[in-house]
Amino acid sequence: MTFPSPEGATPAMAQWFALKAEHPDALLFFRMGDFYELFFNDAEAAASALDISLTARGTHGGEPIAMCGVPVHAAQAYLARLIRRGFRVSVAEQTEQPRKGRPASKGPLRREVVRLITPGTLTEDELLEAGRQNLLAAIICPTGRDASDPGLAWIDISTGLFETATVPPRDLNDLLGRLDPAEILCADTVELGDFAARRTPIVPPASADAARQRMAEAFGVASLDAFGTFSDAEAMAAAAAIDYIRRSQAGQLPRLSHPRPSDSSDILGLDPATRASLDLLRTRDGETEHTLFAAVSRTVTAAGSRMLADWIAAPLTDPERIARRQAGWTWLLDKPGIRDDLRASLRAAPDMARALGRLSLGRGQPRDAVAIRLGLGVAREIGAILNRHENLPPIVEQAARHLDRAHELEDLLGRALSENPPARMDDGGIIASGYDAELDAQRELRDGSRRVIAALQQEYAAEFGIPNLKIRHHAQLGYVIEVPAAASARLRGREDLIMRQGTASASRFSTERLVSLDQQIAQAAENAGMRERHLFTQVVGKILDEAALPDMAAALSCIDIAQSCAVLAGGGMWCCPAVGTDTSFVIRAGRHPVVEAALPRNARFTPNDCDLDPDHRVMLLTGPNMAGKSTFLRQTALAVILAQAGLPVAAQAMRLGVVDRLFSRVGASDDLARGRSTFMVEMTETAAILNQAGPRSLVVVDEIGRGTSTLDGLAIAWAVLETLHSTLRCRAIFATHFHELAELADTMPRLSPHTMSVREWKGQVIFQHEVIPGSARRSWGVHVARLAGVPDPVVRRAGRLLSTLEKERGRQAPPLPLFEQATADEAPAPPPTPALPPAALDMIEDLDPDTLSPRAALEMLY
Ligand code: ADP
Repeated sequence: MTFPSPEGATPAMAQWFALKAEHPDALLFFRMGDFYELFFNDAEAAASALDISLTARGTHGGEPIAMCGVPVHAAQAYLARLIRRGFRVSVAEQTEQPRKGRPASKGPLRREVVRLITPGTLTEDELLEAGRQNLLAAIICPTGRDASDPGLAWIDISTGLFETATVPPRDLNDLLGRLDPAEILCADTVELGDFAARRTPIVPPASADAARQRMAEAFGVASLDAFGTFSDAEAMAAAAAIDYIRRSQAGQLPRLSHPRPSDSSDILGLDPATRASLDLLRTRDGETEHTLFAAVSRTVTAAGSRMLADWIAAPLTDPERIARRQAGWTWLLDKPGIRDDLRASLRAAPDMARALGRLSLGRGQPRDAVAIRLGLGVAREIGAILNRHENLPPIVEQAARHLDRAHELEDLLGRALSENPPARMDDGGIIASGYDAELDAQRELRDGSRRVIAALQQEYAAEFGIPNLKIRHHAQLGYVIEVPAAASARLRGREDLIMRQGTASASRFSTERLVSLDQQIAQAAENAGMRERHLFTQVVGKILDEAALPDMAAALSCIDIAQSCAVLAGGGMWCCPAVGTDTSFVIRAGRHPVVEAALPRNARFTPNDCDLDPDHRVMLLTGPNMAGKSTFLRQTALAVILAQAGLPVAAQAMRLGVVDRLFSRVGASDDLARGRSTFMVEMTETAAILNQAGPRSLVVVDEIGRGTSTLDGLAIAWAVLETLHSTLRCRAIFATHFHELAELADTMPRLSPHTMSVREWKGQVIFQHEVIPGSARRSWGVHVARLAGVPDPVVRRAGRLLSTLEKERGRQAPPLPLFEQATADEAPAPPPTPALPPAALDMIEDLDPDTLSPRAALEMLY
């Protein structure tokens, strides 16, 4: 964006230019009274993004200054829209109060940028999605002499989460896919692929030592080693993230958890293409509705949703940890009563983690402190429900321990905070009466004086015989006696009454007594306000000092997930899989939870078994389009994700040897927008699988080789299948249109051909969605074309062409030169040659003489 030069600006505009220069790439919300105003290009961009009117205010350099504004009280909604549209916003507040007698010559009131709002630095509920983390990530990729693996740090400032990792470059995208950061700080030179749009360019810290030192200072420890072992790149990424947050919060660093080095080695490997093909948390269109998360979540708290989303995004590979999670909900399966009690209590639980985040940034409102009070109560209640039972599973027992803490704080908040606190601090009344003697005294003074005024009003009304005499507070005059103009003569003679104002309808008088009461009230109110702010700060300090709160919030989320799983699995049809360290793989009556949920009421989902145990670990799946292949492939991948996340699986039973990496390539991955052909994308993705899959991996792929000519495609599919089967030795489901591949079962002992069962009935195909052993004997593409509404003449024509092609292919022997083992005598006998070429016969048959124009008939004849 280009802006005019600040030269010749009025003092107010000069201030605007100076503040704009602090964050040139952010829209500047410039506080003017009750509005935030935007100027020049900022105004044009915001007006069009927000669909609000663009006007002009004054001139600069002889040109009108474009301007638009949003009211302060509605600013959150506008900010949310701007951030969603990818803008960054800096907010400049008035940091000097207008005082009486301040000369205009002193120039505009002081303003300062108090905050930079970017997608990764949000804290307000209005700007955040309740059930998802909002991460800011920083990446440092050391190059040249210091070249080493990239270091990452990620922070959710709304909850204080802070983790780091060092990953080999090839895993960088996997990790980004898992974290799905809202904003990524990294140098322009780092390749970010699909995440490029979320980049905020940064200059990395000068050195690792400096970064370590800054981190240690930020957390008040002598050395960063106190929190674990961080690579240089990790420490630099962490420092970069912290620096950025500090700058965005006008120098203030929120209270963050200690940085924790995270180890991705015990997390199921999922690359971005796999995530994209499985719609785990979002669909490709960014929707949350038809996702795995939506199908399995029965959580009732926002924080529980966030933790569940995290579990789904990062399934485990350690059977012991998986079993620990499973035990948390299987314990509740036969206890519907406890489940209901837990749900009822959890429903009242506020989002403690985010309230804490705002309080730690000094952005907390009374309701955030109240949320903590409420949260403590809910935690105690849930702790009590759990502790009524013996032999709790370890994960639940640990949660129960975290829930039964911080009693002192709960007691303090119970005493300190009033029952119904105001929405904003400035409104007063957050601190309960009886908590602080000084505050009570000031309030009493204020309220006592008000009572004196009320009594005075009665006195004067009686004295002057004016029943509707009122004592009112007036913005400029303070407390005044107000009487109807007609009655004002009765008050005039009195010396102690000073006439202050007379209008056609009313006259206003003041007295010395009223002036002094006014001062007393104002003073007491101000003192009470100050005292209250002081006390509130103290209370917030106590909240922030309570180290048990983050663990308590996490424990509540953990219990929410446990009840969610129990409710889901308690409805039947979901199982708790047996997860071990071997390479077994059996699913009995598995289903695709998302497809199942989307089926119309009268349709039933057909469950399918999937057996990839070691002696037939590669399944070759043939069958027409629409028969349910992709659904089967995806449901198998989803079952692995759910199983390893420690969650219930949509099946009757499942036995699984943990998968280390899961590759799923299902469904159109049309990357044409990025200028790569479908075939190129397909091959790049295939290459990624072949380079990374190993004997513990699971690969589910659909139609490898479809993007090129038949023979090419078949050759590639064959070679890939061979590699999966014999070299990588992984478990795999390989769906293909090349029925011919089924013959490879003779040479590949672990290959088991399967097909989707299809029936033909009165010339129509019926898809049974059932996976059965064997291979498809024919293609049903032409039938599917009819189902899809392709006009009848075209379908008939295609049908005839197909049979001709099949016959012609039948005449060639061997049918496919690639298949050395196919012999000529397996080929069907060649059909008798018709007198006319079949195409000509078909054409005549298709003619409709009644609708043919003479000219068209002539052309046909030629
Ligand atoms: P393919 O990949 O073979 O073209 P899909 O897996 O996309 O077919 O399935 C097509 C449609 O069939 C799905 O959208 C779904 O409505 C339905 N379907 C698939 N599998 C099943 C099943 N097991 N039970 C019931 N309906 C199914």
